[in-house]
Amino acid sequence: MEYRKYGNTGAMVSTLGFGAMRLPTHEDGTCDIEKSVPLLQRGIDLGINYIDTAYVYINGTSEVAVGAAIKKYDREKLYLATKIPTNDEKESDPDEWRRKLETSLARFDTPYIDFLLMHGCNWKSFTEHISKPGRALDVARKAQAEGLIKHLCFSSHDDPQNVIKLLDTGEFASVLLQYNYIDTHNLPAIHHAAEKGIGVAVMGPVAGGRLFVPGGVIRDEEGSLEVKTPELSLRFVWSNPDVSVALSGMNTMEQIEENVAAADKAELNESENARIRELVERNKALSDLYCTGCAYCMPCPNGVNIPENFRYMNWFKVWGLEKEAKEAYAKLSGDRVWTPWAGVITGLNAEACIACGECEPKCPQNIPIIDQLAETAKTLG
Ligand code: SF4
Ligand code: SF4
Repeated sequence: MEYRKYGNTGAMVSTLGFGAMRLPTHEDGTCDIEKSVPLLQRGIDLGINYIDTAYVYINGTSEVAVGAAIKKYDREKLYLATKIPTNDEKESDPDEWRRKLETSLARFDTPYIDFLLMHGCNWKSFTEHISKPGRALDVARKAQAEGLIKHLCFSSHDDPQNVIKLLDTGEFASVLLQYNYIDTHNLPAIHHAAEKGIGVAVMGPVAGGRLFVPGGVIRDEEGSLEVKTPELSLRFVWSNPDVSVALSGMNTMEQIEENVAAADKAELNESENARIRELVERNKALSDLYCTGCAYCMPCPNGVNIPENFRYMNWFKVWGLEKEAKEAYAKLSGDRVWTPWAGVITGLNAEACIACGECEPKCPQNIPIIDQLAETAKTLG
């Protein structure tokens, strides 16, 4: 495992971070702690020292699982990152914010959080709510002075110009941004953060699994560069020296071991980098369908499983895996079906969309869902 300097925080973080948002769950949607703890501990045993979660992940039970997993380790050797929602009037209320912080600390059963992120912070909410006197920022600073938080940070889906403005406030020690080889729009903000000594963590290096195809192997034109799909995605992110840690939301031992093996490999050499960038160029067509699988658009009142439809469209468009994409699409028939890539899936395929428009305003990626579902139905149906 390679470790990188995390901005000016003094931390040396593993290049692979454990994203704890996709841990195994029970039927009721809560985290299956018994299954999750060994996964997290395997990651730590293999060298991961950065674990990322959030107040809201898995209805709050992700933080409990992480807390249970780290119990047997030296707390000082691990970096815990969690996020508290802060965006509107209510969320940035000082009492509400403090209550959430104390809840997170209790769930982890730890005396401090290393990296506390304002979750999904944007310029508008920062100026209108968070930074107002007596609101979330002041409460966070007070908690920091009490030793409950080591570093104040933020995650953001705002546009890069606004992220740069947030970085320039001087309030934050690290930032968590989306970046992967089909979505490089945050590059200016990532570079700006690194120049300022602000640590950069990357979410979505494999686009929520969208860039992962089971057994998928990508070859360049001559066939001399051969990389497994998740490894290609991670190595692309690590090839950027401005990035300290790439988070991967892992939920099987196999994934953990594969990703750690990728992190253990020597960095890409120049010619590999260049060829991976060529692959990126070729796949640019996908950038109009960059679905992270966040499911904020769900549920669809008509039963369409929007993110799964887009996953298969990505397989088709990025990897040219026509057969696999069509077979997977056909599984979206409303029945509960087990799949090796997402566990149990349910819901309908794109043909069931009646264009009611309920989902589109909820998508943080501003994907024209109706049009893209129509294209998916035409292509895969
Ligand atoms: S537009 Fe289509 S996918 Fe979106 S909520 Fe309506 S029926 Fe569902
Ligand atoms: S909200 Fe947008 S990015 Fe998230 S799953 Fe739905 S379509 Fe994909």
